[in-house]
Amino acid sequence: MTAPQNVNGPQATIPPQPALCPVCRLKPPHPLLNCGVVKLGPMAMKSTIEQLERENNPAHRQILDQLRTLYSNVTNIARRMSAPIPMPLNEVIDLTSLQ
Ligand SMILES: [Zn+2]
Repeated sequence: MTAPQNVNGPQATIPPQPALCPVCRLKPPHPLLNCGVVKLGPMAMKSTIEQLERENNPAHRQILDQLRTLYSNVTNIARRMSAPIPMPLNEVIDLTSLQ
Protein backbone atom coordinates (compact mmCIF):
# COMPACT_ATOMS: atom_id res chain seq x y z
CA MET A 1 0.00 0.00 0.00
CA THR A 2 1.54 3.31 -1.04
CA ALA A 3 0.48 6.80 -0.11
CA PRO A 4 -1.71 8.49 -2.72
CA GLN A 5 0.03 10.86 -5.10
CA ASN A 6 0.07 14.32 -3.69
CA VAL A 7 0.80 17.36 -5.86
CA ASN A 8 1.98 19.17 -2.79
CA GLY A 9 4.46 16.41 -2.02
CA PRO A 10 8.08 16.78 -0.97
CA GLN A 11 9.08 18.09 -4.41
CA ALA A 12 6.99 21.23 -3.97
CA THR A 13 9.35 22.98 -1.62
CA ILE A 14 8.04 26.47 -2.38
CA PRO A 15 4.39 26.82 -1.41
CA PRO A 16 2.35 28.71 -3.97
CA GLN A 17 1.81 32.34 -3.07
CA PRO A 18 -1.75 32.75 -1.89
CA ALA A 19 -3.52 35.16 -4.19
CA LEU A 20 -4.15 38.36 -2.33
CA CYS A 21 -5.77 41.59 -3.31
CA PRO A 22 -2.85 43.70 -4.60
CA VAL A 23 -4.39 46.78 -3.04
CA CYS A 24 -4.87 45.81 0.61
CA ARG A 25 -2.82 42.57 0.55
CA LEU A 26 -4.94 41.22 3.36
CA LYS A 27 -7.62 39.18 1.66
CA PRO A 28 -8.15 37.19 -1.51
CA PRO A 29 -8.91 39.41 -4.50
CA HIS A 30 -12.26 41.14 -4.32
CA PRO A 31 -13.99 43.96 -6.14
CA LEU A 32 -12.18 47.23 -5.60
CA LEU A 33 -15.24 48.78 -4.01
CA ASN A 34 -15.14 46.10 -1.32
CA CYS A 35 -11.47 46.63 -0.61
CA GLY A 36 -10.49 47.79 2.85
CA VAL A 37 -8.13 50.40 1.41
CA VAL A 38 -10.92 51.95 -0.64
CA LYS A 39 -13.16 51.99 2.41
CA LEU A 40 -10.45 53.79 4.36
CA GLY A 41 -10.77 56.70 1.98
CA PRO A 42 -8.73 58.79 -0.46
CA MET A 43 -5.66 59.10 1.78
CA ALA A 44 -5.21 55.34 1.99
CA MET A 45 -5.96 54.99 -1.71
CA LYS A 46 -3.35 57.57 -2.60
CA SER A 47 -0.59 55.91 -0.60
CA THR A 48 -1.47 52.56 -2.14
CA ILE A 49 -1.38 54.08 -5.62
CA GLU A 50 2.07 55.49 -4.89
CA GLN A 51 3.23 52.15 -3.56
CA LEU A 52 1.97 50.29 -6.64
CA GLU A 53 3.62 52.90 -8.87
CA ARG A 54 6.93 52.36 -7.11
CA GLU A 55 6.69 48.60 -7.49
CA ASN A 56 5.79 49.01 -11.17
CA ASN A 57 4.52 45.44 -11.37
CA PRO A 58 2.92 44.75 -14.78
CA ALA A 59 0.51 42.33 -13.12
CA HIS A 60 -0.86 45.18 -11.04
CA ARG A 61 -1.18 47.71 -13.86
CA GLN A 62 -4.87 47.08 -14.37
CA ILE A 63 -5.79 47.33 -10.71
CA LEU A 64 -3.63 50.44 -10.45
CA ASP A 65 -5.59 52.07 -13.28
CA GLN A 66 -8.85 51.13 -11.62
CA LEU A 67 -7.65 52.49 -8.32
CA ARG A 68 -6.54 55.76 -9.93
CA THR A 69 -9.92 56.17 -11.59
CA LEU A 70 -11.73 55.43 -8.37
CA TYR A 71 -9.45 57.78 -6.45
CA SER A 72 -10.11 60.66 -8.83
CA ASN A 73 -13.85 60.00 -8.67
CA VAL A 74 -13.79 59.96 -4.88
CA THR A 75 -11.70 63.12 -4.61
CA ASN A 76 -13.87 64.94 -7.15
CA ILE A 77 -16.98 64.06 -5.19
CA ALA A 78 -15.34 65.09 -1.91
CA ARG A 79 -14.23 68.37 -3.41
CA ARG A 80 -17.68 69.16 -4.70
CA MET A 81 -19.27 68.35 -1.38
CA SER A 82 -16.84 70.18 0.90
CA ALA A 83 -15.64 73.14 -1.14
CA PRO A 84 -18.00 75.96 -1.95
CA ILE A 85 -18.65 76.45 -5.61
CA PRO A 86 -16.68 79.52 -6.70
CA MET A 87 -19.01 82.36 -7.53
CA PRO A 88 -17.51 84.92 -9.86
CA LEU A 89 -19.10 88.24 -9.03
CA ASN A 90 -19.91 89.28 -12.54
CA GLU A 91 -21.07 85.97 -13.86
CA VAL A 92 -24.26 84.05 -13.50
CA ILE A 93 -23.62 80.37 -12.95
CA ASP A 94 -26.07 77.92 -14.35
CA LEU A 95 -26.32 75.48 -11.45
CA THR A 96 -28.39 73.04 -13.42
CA SER A 97 -25.32 72.18 -15.47
CA LEU A 98 -23.64 70.81 -12.34
CA GLN A 99 -26.26 68.21 -11.68
ZN1 LIG B 1 -8.27 44.63 -1.13
